[in-house]
Amino acid sequence: MALVVQKYGGTSMGSIERIRNVAKRVAKTYDAGNDMMVVVSAMSGETNKLVALANEVCEFPDNREYDVLVASGEQVSIALLAMCLKSMGYKAKSYHGWQVPIITDSAFSKARIEEIPDTKVRADLKDGTIVIVAGFQGIDKAGNVTTLGRGGSDTSAVALAAAMKADVCEIYTDVDGVYTTDPNICEDARKIDKVSYDEMLELASLGAKVLQIRSVEFAKKYNVDVHVRSSFNDNQGTMVTKEDKDMEAVLVSGIAYDKNEAKIAVMGVPDKPGIAAKILSALSDANISVDMIVQNVSGGDLTDFTFTVTKADFKKALAITKEVATEIKATGVTADESISKVSIVGVGMRSHAGVATKMFQTLAQEGINIQMISTSEIKVSVVIDAKYTELAVRVLHEAFGLSGK
Ligand code: ADP
Ligand code: ASP
Ligand code: MG
Repeated sequence: MALVVQKYGGTSMGSIERIRNVAKRVAKTYDAGNDMMVVVSAMSGETNKLVALANEVCEFPDNREYDVLVASGEQVSIALLAMCLKSMGYKAKSYHGWQVPIITDSAFSKARIEEIPDTKVRADLKDGTIVIVAGFQGIDKAGNVTTLGRGGSDTSAVALAAAMKADVCEIYTDVDGVYTTDPNICEDARKIDKVSYDEMLELASLGAKVLQIRSVEFAKKYNVDVHVRSSFNDNQGTMVTKEDKDMEAVLVSGIAYDKNEAKIAVMGVPDKPGIAAKILSALSDANISVDMIVQNVSGGDLTDFTFTVTKADFKKALAITKEVATEIKATGVTADESISKVSIVGVGMRSHAGVATKMFQTLAQEGINIQMISTSEIKVSVVIDAKYTELAVRVLHEAFGLSGK
């Protein structure tokens, strides 16, 4: 008998009819003789509605209460799925994150899972019960409800699979697997059969929201093979797994984009030691992570210091940056929310020169201006005007020979 962990995302749980479809799929795997744990997301659109409500109440909603609010979407879907399975004659039981318990740190809205004691759920499984767990949520040591960041149900599922030493971990979503780029904006995108943890980490961190980045970190750390597949058919999906030799042969394996960042620039910063640290530490004290950073000389003893943050952190980051800018006597602060980051990713890049050049030339041919650049061993990212995102993704997909045609 195997232990199977399945996770169903928001679209898969998006209506009563779809929840019935999920229940049938769960029942089928259970009937085949497996122990089952199912992690579910809120019904599609529900978490966005809750976030909008919080933002209507005030500009900077209280962090603790924000998590209490946004965790509620998953409470609805676990109960509906459990009811559905029970009405079909199965033993099923729903659990909030805190009931399992899924223990996290106290970083509200971006908490990290620390530990998952399994005594309670093991007893249910032994008794033949299908265990249904709310994704996205946990509890900190002080007993507060926490959430794991948008898309966090993937992480709940992989962390549970690791903690329970599950035999199979399947992430069911609304596309057939991980593609060379988002199949919803590029019709030539091709499904990838196998992708390494490192490539998937890059793709996820660069915006391919098909898996939340922390779920891939867990998978890599605990060696969990993750099968990403569709809840609407029985097609084989994508295995996210250890790197093997043929993976190295591919130069660029995927293109990712992220419209979820904004750019802040501090102009006319005195060019002396400690200034960058001052700006960045003020942000990190507020638990805001900075992504790309560029510093360039703007003449004389002054430089411009530009960085990006997520749109969710943007307002707060801008307010903090303006305060620091006044303190360090910078000449001004500018901000731009209509940017996007487009990236090419591939483990094959390690051993090939010229990849970045080809990327920049391809964008130049389309008249797309590059505002910022960052590179690692296996990726190149550029920040461009958001209105060119889809165009950039398509021309790069074509230029690097990723097209399925
Ligand atoms: P779920 O609600 O099931 O968690 P998400 O919306 O979070 O689903 O993630 C699935 C979506 O990820 C797809 O509908 C697709 O638009 C998007 N996506 C972005 N990049 C990729 C990629 N490289 N491969 C597959 N899907 C991608
Ligand atoms: N419901 C949460 C979100 O929309 C978590 C998830 O879907 O994974 O971000
Ligand atoms: Mg998701």
